[in-house]
Amino acid sequence: MSMNKQGRPTTPAPARSSGTAGDRNNGGGDVAPETFSGNRGLSLEEPLLFEVGNLNSCGVDLPQPLDCAPRLGTLARETPIGLPGLSEPETMRHYVRLSQKNYSIDGGLYPLGSCTMKHNPRLNEKMARLPGFADVHPLQPQKTVQGALELIETLGGWLTEITGMAAVAMSPKAGAHGELCGMMAIKAAHLAKLKRSGTAGGAIANNSAAAAAAVAAAPKTVLVPESAHGTNPATAALIGYKVKTIPADADGTVRVDAVRAAIDDDTAAIMLTNPNTCGLFERDIVEIAKAIHDAGAYFYCDGANLNAIMGKAKPGDLGVDAMHINLHKTFSTPHGGGGPGAGPVVLSEALAPYAPVPFIVRDGGGFRLVEEASGAHEYGTGHDTPQQNAADPFGRLTAFHGQMGMFVRALSYMMSHGGDGLQQASEDAVLNANYVRAGLRDLFSQPFGDKPCMHEVLFDDSFLAGTGVTTLDFAKAMIDEGYHPMTMYFPLVVHGAMLVEPTESESKHALDEFIASLRALAIAAKAGDVDRFTSAPKFAPRKRLDETRAARSPRLRWQEDASS
Ligand SMILES: *Cc1c(COP(=O)(O)O)cnc(C)c1O
Repeated sequence: MSMNKQGRPTTPAPARSSGTAGDRNNGGGDVAPETFSGNRGLSLEEPLLFEVGNLNSCGVDLPQPLDCAPRLGTLARETPIGLPGLSEPETMRHYVRLSQKNYSIDGGLYPLGSCTMKHNPRLNEKMARLPGFADVHPLQPQKTVQGALELIETLGGWLTEITGMAAVAMSPKAGAHGELCGMMAIKAAHLAKLKRSGTAGGAIANNSAAAAAAVAAAPKTVLVPESAHGTNPATAALIGYKVKTIPADADGTVRVDAVRAAIDDDTAAIMLTNPNTCGLFERDIVEIAKAIHDAGAYFYCDGANLNAIMGKAKPGDLGVDAMHINLHKTFSTPHGGGGPGAGPVVLSEALAPYAPVPFIVRDGGGFRLVEEASGAHEYGTGHDTPQQNAADPFGRLTAFHGQMGMFVRALSYMMSHGGDGLQQASEDAVLNANYVRAGLRDLFSQPFGDKPCMHEVLFDDSFLAGTGVTTLDFAKAMIDEGYHPMTMYFPLVVHGAMLVEPTESESKHALDEFIASLRALAIAAKAGDVDRFTSAPKFAPRKRLDETRAARSPRLRWQEDASS
């Protein structure tokens, strides 16, 4: 098996021994079906609907169409539609069984580092389903959705309070989308600065040559530490910035000197993840913010990991200019399966005017959604200090106001915890990660030494050196033990990384069981029980898949002849 420099396998493991060709369990595994049916106890084998259904039959009785001339003309279908005919119970069972194969936070511990897979309290779900929130339509007259607008405004108030920031843009629909929002605000702020100073030759708004000059004069480089989340450099590159990588120190964090050395006239911003993806607090953060501001640049902080510092440190006090908050991590709400998320962005006073529309203002006794820049300075989100929120917006990021269902869940989570409860959630998240660290530190290896972490604990693969077991093998063996693996091979700065984030919602009992399983696996690996790992997972419905091929050349359509 060849490995890249992070210690990640670049080719699938060779098929091991006896799996018969065409066996569904194949793909490197060695387990032939042990039953006549292919089912394993009550875990049923799941064929595709096309394999169960019959293309020539129909699952429902439809009346014969009247004998009339077709009126579709050239639009009439020339070939059969090709959908399988199934009965209602067959269809029902297919989807229910698929849903049962989905590992979920409601089913077990989900230690996926950087993802904050915490319990979603049922109260949130109940609130999100109230018809006044669930059934509103974004195009409804605003006077009929005053409660929903008030909820968004109140949530924005909690977010600015928790972070100590001046304003908030609620519409971004994911963490990475929030990064885009914050970086577009930064870009707009640089252009506005040039416009004010006249560097770009006058009124850029009215003069396309001058606008082009401003764009040409604006700084074009974004500094991104190598321990940043991968979405950070991707976001900067997406809107046309050059990315300059800042190396981390031997302790896994960024030194202000390294940032100072990288700053030049072309520096537009830094994007720093804090706590970083190694689970460590960036202790030079205040000095880094100062160095960036002294250079006339802005400080974007990736705040997806707010779960570690909520109620303990305010990004506003750390000198942050823009930061997204993943509501679908810190404030519960189901995620991880590609479902809806929400990534509101809090902004400093310097960036607030460039926030996107729409935003909500208190207006008389009610609430109003401002959809267009008025040119006049609007005072928005109902806080004590009036903000010139979106007075000069960079534009619009989404069609409407954002993810209502996520907003309801997040506010429900906040209000049921209260300020002290949110602070305790952070403390418990950090405590739990350190409990896992303490339970494993004599058997596992920590790349930056044995010292406290924040909300997640990072191990590397050096404890597996010489065992013939890789990070991937170890993760697959965890599946056999009934655990979703931790985040693997991320962050990239660490060889064979294993990033564990238990979150605050796991009990001591659950953590003890998890630690005991991981300890037993580590001992087995060191004792030479290699087969337990290289042939894992033995008990999953599918074995090792060729993930690279699945990603690079996915077969997304069923084809009759290719199926046999
Ligand atoms: C999850 C995460 C993101 C991206 O959030 P999405 O909602 O998945 O786009 C960005 N940065 C960090 C540190 C994260 O953990």
